[in-house]
Parts: sequence; structure tokens; C-alpha cells
Amino acid sequence: MASEPKQKIAVMTSGGDSPGMNGVVRAVVRMAIHMGCDAYCVYEGYEGLVQGGSYIKKTEWDDVRGYLGIGGTYIGTARCMAFYERPGRLTGAKNMILNGINALIICGGDGSLTGADKFRAEWPSLVEELVSTGQLTKEQVEPYKKLNIVGLVGSIDNDLSGTDATIGAYTALANICEAVDKIESTATSHSRAFVIEVMGRHCGWLALMAGVAIGADFIFIPEKPREDNWQQEMCEVVKKHRDWGKRKTIVIIAEGAMDRHGSKITPNMVKDLLADKKGLALDTRISSLGHLQRGGPAGAYDRMLATLQGVEAVKAVLDAAQAVKEGKPQPETCVITINENKITRQPLMAAVAATQQVAKAIEAQDFDKAMSLRDTEFAEMYSSFMMTTAMGLDTSIHVPANKKMRIGFINVGAPAGGMNAAVRAGVAYCRSRGHEPVGIYNGFAGFARHHGDKPEGAVRGFDWLEVDGWASRGGSEIGTNRELPEESGMELMAKLIKQYRFDALFLIGGFEAFHSVSQLRKARETYPELCIPMTLLPATISNNVPGTEYSLGSDTCLNELVNYCDKIKQSASATRRRVFVIETQGGRSGYVATLGGLGVGASAVYIPEEGVTLDMLAADVRHLKEAFQKDKGRSRAGRLILVNEKASRVYDARLIANVFREEAHNRFESRDLIPGHLQQGGIPSAMDRCKAVRLAIMCIKELEKFGPKPFENPDKIKNDPTSASVIGIQGAQVTFTPMEELETRHTDWQNRRPKAAYWTDMKEVVDVLGGRPKYPEPE
Ligand code: ATP
Repeated sequence: MASEPKQKIAVMTSGGDSPGMNGVVRAVVRMAIHMGCDAYCVYEGYEGLVQGGSYIKKTEWDDVRGYLGIGGTYIGTARCMAFYERPGRLTGAKNMILNGINALIICGGDGSLTGADKFRAEWPSLVEELVSTGQLTKEQVEPYKKLNIVGLVGSIDNDLSGTDATIGAYTALANICEAVDKIESTATSHSRAFVIEVMGRHCGWLALMAGVAIGADFIFIPEKPREDNWQQEMCEVVKKHRDWGKRKTIVIIAEGAMDRHGSKITPNMVKDLLADKKGLALDTRISSLGHLQRGGPAGAYDRMLATLQGVEAVKAVLDAAQAVKEGKPQPETCVITINENKITRQPLMAAVAATQQVAKAIEAQDFDKAMSLRDTEFAEMYSSFMMTTAMGLDTSIHVPANKKMRIGFINVGAPAGGMNAAVRAGVAYCRSRGHEPVGIYNGFAGFARHHGDKPEGAVRGFDWLEVDGWASRGGSEIGTNRELPEESGMELMAKLIKQYRFDALFLIGGFEAFHSVSQLRKARETYPELCIPMTLLPATISNNVPGTEYSLGSDTCLNELVNYCDKIKQSASATRRRVFVIETQGGRSGYVATLGGLGVGASAVYIPEEGVTLDMLAADVRHLKEAFQKDKGRSRAGRLILVNEKASRVYDARLIANVFREEAHNRFESRDLIPGHLQQGGIPSAMDRCKAVRLAIMCIKELEKFGPKPFENPDKIKNDPTSASVIGIQGAQVTFTPMEELETRHTDWQNRRPKAAYWTDMKEVVDVLGGRPKYPEPE
């Protein structure tokens, strides 16, 4: 029996370029080949589809090597006027059929996806017209009666409804934050104001998130114009911040900013207000970041998103093809999305329609509708921004005097990016509600040791002027320490908590912080003083805290690791035939190594969950020998292997590099490298900073539910499992999980990690896209 012809899957990038598009191309091409299909690239977006010929090219596995680390899109993108019209789409359809393309994966913004949706809807009539006008025969079109199309959202604006993040948005945000972090030095030195214009015609996501990450004084976004007296409001907020002693003023304005009547608000208008000699009279400058925002290689998150979504897109086209083959209805055309931390498929048409509704709502000045059409995170981020800036001054949302709480803030474990941003946001929220936030300095060790001689140093209130500057700062300003409460003794802990009259405890940290909450919870049986609510915001680069799929600091770490590896890879490529074996941190969790491997396109990743065996090393040496053999004369030939620091007690990075060198018999070279604490990062990533703000505020709200003086009714707290909890992102939700449930059912205490790792599938993706042979090899 003749074997079925291979499916031909084409990928295209369209509209404005965005960082991560190359990652999509790499993932689609390699996943398609892995699944037994032929892969094609359509160059220059829809223009290539309309032009046909050399614009549509079969693409091989090795053609996309090195794509992950390159900014923009290697296969080109364009705005194509012809595709807006039916004749252009007709030619596009003809070219697809002539090239035998069965499925098309399009990565672009809402315009590109609208075009895709139109193409899909028109397809049967286009095919009919191609036959009726004699351009193609009935036989030629027969296998292509249905168009199999899948969308991926590549856009820096993050403007597509139904997804939390578009590919490229977090990199653009990082670019903005990096620029503003630099501008801030000048602003502070000269006590200046800066009005910073960022991209976003119909979507204020970049402006909003930048405002949150930076701790800006004021923002202007299209979806939520301020009231008619916005000029006065802005000046009042800025004046208050200046009155506190702030030396810098940062106002972020989205390109599409307008007032409630649809009139544009320009950076010049804002500048004039701030500089007005009769008013604030601030030395004010404008900085338009322009195309800087789009440029450069994708950050770790966008590489992950591009890769996982590219893989999912191939699965979606194959699922649709399978359904048709089985005579089932073709599934609705989908766009690949992400919600919180889960890659999902959503109907393309509905997502595009909802996105267009936002623009229409803004035009119609129905701003409540525009906000409601954005995802939950958007609205929460907006209120987080307001809480941590403007409303932080507003006493009208204070709780009544008898509801005010004294909340202890403590950092536990190693520093992680976003810890300071979380403390700042928590303090700001407490202030806005009239609670009393109190810092416990240097973890539980500091709490215990400084007691007595320097009590005021170890436990003290926050000076907002100081804390306000922590939004972008790395490390831990209140100091952190790995020591667990039991090391100083629970009796002392109970005594101190009583002495300082804490109504609740807000912990930020990694596995040690998790362990601390567990110890404190258990000790409640003996010490009723510990019957106060406590919640943990996970912050650790290892991302090994049970109850969450994301910890603050893990994104910062991955960005550092990916940047480091990019540089190493470049050196490896220049020297040729060199493998770098890089040791990653992560404790006994392979998260950092795996996600790092996903971001850099590692040839192999060794993690503690799988261990390392001689057979495994032998298989990888064979694979590397073959790979180097194949790419004779090619550039971008360096290869990376990531090894978690605790992947094996015997085979560490150095030994693995030595084994490889020995076994390679001069076919390739190998070196080991240890980036070490560099992975903790300097300035935290924009994502860690933004998530820190949102999650910290949610934590304080959670603690607020219990009210003041919980120790007056210790049994109530003790018997309420939610009174000791961990906030986490799990799948598509943000949850608070009771510590009792986590410690008994979900924790691998010996290995200090959750029992089940949600990212296991990602390890498989790294292996598949790295071309690594399946291990153990099938018999
Ligand atoms: P960005 O978010 O960066 O603007 P985009 O995908 O929205 O990206 P557009 O310029 O709007 O960018 O669209 C890219 C291309 O998609 C257009 O040049 C055109 O070829 C096609 N396209 C857009 N809208 C339509 C439409 N309504 N009908 C047919 N084709 C369209």
C-alpha cells in the first residue's frame, strides 16, 4: 500500500516584527519535521503568499539553528496591501495549493489574524473560483478543500483578547524598563521629571506594566482615561510625591492616550503641565522610546512562549487534519493563547472579534467596556498601580480603626528578583488601607538575634520615601536569611510575635520560607501566640515551592542564564565544534536547567528528577558526533548542554565535559562553565517586578480577611486551614493553597521540591527540538 503523502505545514510571520517570532519559526519547523511532516516557511508575510515562487521555501531542521537568540524575524515580515483584497487572497490560495501546503501557521498581530480569519472564511469560495476560472483543476484542489490554519499572537502590544501575553510583549516591556531604569538615574540626579512615551495605539498594556514595574508617578493609557480634571489630578499626585521628598518624577504615556472625550493627550501637553512655572515648575524632558522597544533578542519568557506555542500550533493543525481524515467536523480555527501559566487554544474568530471590540469601545468612549474586555490581570494590574501610587495617598479607602492590622513583613532564604518590589507593594497597600506594615529585618535569624540588644533595628516600620525607591531594586532591602524559626526555638518566636503585637505575617521567600510557615503552623498547637494568619509569596530562582508554578525571581534568573548562554554560544560558534557544558542553579529542581534549555535551544539538559547515567552520556556523545558531522562548513554550530548543580552526585559539569572531550575523539571540543550566583541577577526582570506587585497586594488582601487581634480567638485560626497559606499561579488561576494541604500531600521534603513538576512536558520539548535521541533508546 502506498504510504500517505506527508503533510506540508507552512509558517509565516506577519505585521510588525516582535521578539520571539524566530523562536516560533524554529519550533514550528522542528516540531513539524519531528511529527513526520514537511516544513515550509513563507517569507515576507502575506506578501510572500501572494508572490509565491521563491517566497515559499521548504525548510530543514538545521536551517533554523540559532534562531532563538536572534531578534526580529529571520523569514521577514511585511504589510501586504494585496491581501486586503480578494484577488490577492485568491492568488495566495493558488500558491498554497500549487506548493501542496496543507496547513498554515501565522504568527502576527490582530491585523494578521483578522486577515487569516478572512482567508479561512473565504477559502471554499476561493477554491471554487480557482477552478471555475480555470486556474486550477478539480483534481488539483481536491485535497485542499478545507483550509487548516492556526494563529499565534506575535505582537509587542499585548493587545489580543483571550491571552495574557503575546509573543514579544514581555521583551518589549523589559526594553522599556531597562531604558527607564537608566533615565531614572538622570532624573534623580537633577531632580527632573521625565515624560516617557511608549508604544500602544489601542492597548495600554506596555504603559501600564511599565508604570507598575518602575513605580511611575502617573500613567496614561487608552482604555482608562482619567477624569476630566486629569491635569489637576496628575499635578496633585506629582506634588504629593515631591512633598514626600521624591527627587524624580516619571510619567508614562501610551501612544494612544486620550481623554474621556477622545482627544489625544500628547507628551508635550503633559510636559507643559509639569513644567508650568506657575505650578510645579519641574525641569521636564520628554523621551520617546520608539523602535528601541521592539528590538533585540527575545527574553526568556518570550522564547518559552514562542517555543511552547509553536509546538502547540503544530499539534493543533495535526489534530484538525486527523479530525477531517476521520470524517469528523474540522475543529474551529484556533489561536494559541496563554492564561496565567497554561497554554490553551481559543477560537480565532472570537478572539479577533473581542480584540476589535476593544478598539471600537475606546472609539465610542465606552471605557468601562474596554477595560472589561481586557483580561483579569490587566484590571488587577491597573488597580495595583493605583494602590501603589495615586491611591496610596487616599485615606478614603482606609479601613475603620477597629479593623486596622499590624502586619509583619519578612524575607526568608536566598535573595530573588522581585522581593523588594513585593515588599514595596505590600507596604503601599497597607498604607492605602490604614494598616501598619512592619519590617522584620534579616529573616528569622535577625528577628531572634537582635532581640534584646537592638530590638528597634530588627523590627521597625517603613519609611515610605525609602521603600518607594525599591520597585526596581535587586536583592533584599530588609535582608534575608536561610535560618528556620525552629533554629532559634519556637518559644522565642511565639514570644516575639506577641511582643511585637503582629496580627499577621507576610513572608516572601523560597523553600526555606515554605518550611518556616510549616513549622510555625505546626507549633500553633503548643504556642497560641502563633495563631495569627500567615501567607507566603514564593520567591526563589529555583521555582521549587509547592503550591505554585511560578516564583518571583525565576524569570530574572532565566533571563540572566539565557543572556549568559547566548554569549557563550556565540563564542562556541566562533571557535566551531565546541560544546559548552554549563552548570545551572536550582537545588534539586530541574526547572531552571529545563527552562534555560528551552530558551537557548540546548542539545541536552540534565536534571535531578532524571539523574545522569553513563548510558545517557554515551547516547548524547553519539548524537553530538553525528550533529557536528552533519553541519560541516555551517555557521552557528556551537552547542550547549545545561546541567543542574544537583543532577548527579558524580557527574557534575566538569566531569561531563571531560567525558565528552575524551569520547569525542577529536570530533569536537568541550568546556565546562559555572555562572553561579550571576543567576540571581542584578536588576529584577520586568515580569518579576510586575507579578511581585500584583501578588503581594493579593497576599495582604488575603491576610486582611482575618482582621485584627486573631490571637484573641486562637482556636478559630488554628482550625482554619486557610490561615497559613501559599499564594501561587496554578494552571490558569491564582490560588491560595492551605499549607497543611501542601505539606502533607504535595511536598517532596527530602528533595525540597513539589512532588509533581508541572514543567515535565517542557523537558520533552527541549529534547525534541534539540534533536536529542529518545532516552532510553527504543529497542
Ligand atoms: P501589529 O500588531 O504589529 O500592527 P498586525 O498583524 O496587526 O501587527 P497589520 O499591519 O494590521 O499588522 O496586518 C498585517 C497584514 O495582515 C496586513 O498588511 C495585511 O496583509 C493583513 N491584514 C490585516 N488586516 C486584514 C484584513 N482585514 N483583511 C485581510 N488582510 C488583512
